[in-house]
Amino acid sequence: YVTIGQVFEQTVRKYPNKEALVDLAKNQRWTFTEYDEDVNRLANALKESGIQKGDVVSTFLFNTSELAITYFACAKIGAVINPINFRLKSQEVAFILQDCQPRLVLYETMTEPHVKTLQQDFPAISFWSISPSDQPDTIFFHDRLQSASSEHPNISVKEDDLYAIMYTSGTTGRPKGVLHRHREMIDMSLIGMNALHLRPDDIGLVAAPMFHCAELHCAFLPRVHAGCTNVILHHFDPKAALSAIETERISIMFAAPTMWNMMLQENLADYDLSSMRYCLYGAAPMAPALVTKLKEEMGMQLVQAYGMTEMGPAITFLAEDEQFTKAGSAGKACFNHEVRVVRTNEDGPSEPDALCPPYEVGEIIVQGPCVMKGYLNRPEATEKALYKGWYHSGDLGFMDSEGYLYISDRVDDMIISGGENIYPREVEDVLYEHPGVLDVAVLGEPHEKWGEQVTAIIVKKDGALTEEELEAFCRSSDKLASYKRPRRFIFMEALPRNASGKIQKFLLRQQYTAKSA
Ligand code: ATP
Ligand code: MG
Repeated sequence: YVTIGQVFEQTVRKYPNKEALVDLAKNQRWTFTEYDEDVNRLANALKESGIQKGDVVSTFLFNTSELAITYFACAKIGAVINPINFRLKSQEVAFILQDCQPRLVLYETMTEPHVKTLQQDFPAISFWSISPSDQPDTIFFHDRLQSASSEHPNISVKEDDLYAIMYTSGTTGRPKGVLHRHREMIDMSLIGMNALHLRPDDIGLVAAPMFHCAELHCAFLPRVHAGCTNVILHHFDPKAALSAIETERISIMFAAPTMWNMMLQENLADYDLSSMRYCLYGAAPMAPALVTKLKEEMGMQLVQAYGMTEMGPAITFLAEDEQFTKAGSAGKACFNHEVRVVRTNEDGPSEPDALCPPYEVGEIIVQGPCVMKGYLNRPEATEKALYKGWYHSGDLGFMDSEGYLYISDRVDDMIISGGENIYPREVEDVLYEHPGVLDVAVLGEPHEKWGEQVTAIIVKKDGALTEEELEAFCRSSDKLASYKRPRRFIFMEALPRNASGKIQKFLLRQQYTAKSA
């Protein structure tokens, strides 16, 4: 098979009567045959409403069975899916719609308030609601679906056709639209199946946002590919996720570090988690102290993925048996990919041949079948990112002598104090070891003498923690040279995070320091 639609059909043929999809919010279940029928119905409904191959279909949806259906319906007719972050506000969505020019946007009750203004600003776009509505002019998704044929839509789609426009998380600035073809995501799906040793009897929980490539391509898609069941949780809530693991006998799930952290704050003894085989974590740095806690308290195998939207996303995996022998590492390059660490350049992209020796920090670059085709409408950014055929990640890291990759930080987040490079992550990892720390972000503040000084922004677990205590804790750590120790601690109620669970340091910088972008 060569397209995402064919991957899906292959599974349907293999496991026609197996449970494919469970929508917990609707309490509805689909076998693969029923799932395929709905996918075909929607594909035909899209066709009938004039959607053609190459047209963009955006979804402004939470985790829903409708999104799971739309995903393969678009793939079957060669429409390009663009899943939009459901947390974005109308102006942020307007930026994306302007950028990728969809023909159709699907929305639901929860995103409807933002849709009202978008409908006025984008009169050429059709808007369909997946939720019943009392507004007379609403086009109801399920009406369209029910009246369409469940026959195969019969459109020829090729592996080099565009299949998705996925926007980056916008952690460092405006989100960028990443173009992926069918071929790249089929490779990614196979890589995900392998890394997690997926079996058809696995039951996966879709708890992380499905609009993000980590859930969509490293969890949901590989599970469909392998014939597993996908259980959809409308949005993440730690108690709801833990209950779902118990009642649906979930064996595998992906979550970002912040989500695992929230689950670990719950009383785990209240839940039967014995069905779990694998926890997949990644998409943001996870402190080793948290990894240990996850292993001890959840008692299951862990696998880490490191990557980015541009890669669809994974470029390395840290396997289950390496979690402690290679603690802190992001693992090794995934199948058929080459990962390098190269010297950075002040005035241009890093040269792919300027290899760093083991343990020297440089930029992480990668080559292989899953690299994006490019960014939408950004030829210059594309040329820079794909310089000399290598994807330049903008992340800093090093390799050990056995080829295990360690992520230091983002190029933009590195702190230079008194001429020394400091990677905020190292400092954050130490602070996470303090039992009173719930969340932490470390950044550089401008300093007259040192250029920058290290500042730690802390969310406390309880009220008792003081600045002096943290100061003493860092001083006594054998992992922090004195120049890396935070010179200032700021306490906050919560850190600003985007929907992928990543701390938006540019917002913190704007709030607390003059070094705003
Ligand atoms: P933008 O590119 O718009 O600023 P973003 O880079 O956060 O946003 P994503 O593609 O969702 O958008 O995230 C990729 C980034 O997330 C990586 O470049 C890396 O910095 C971080 N990341 C992903 N996985 C891991 C991991 N396992 N460990 C540490 N960092 C990770
Ligand atoms: Mg990025």
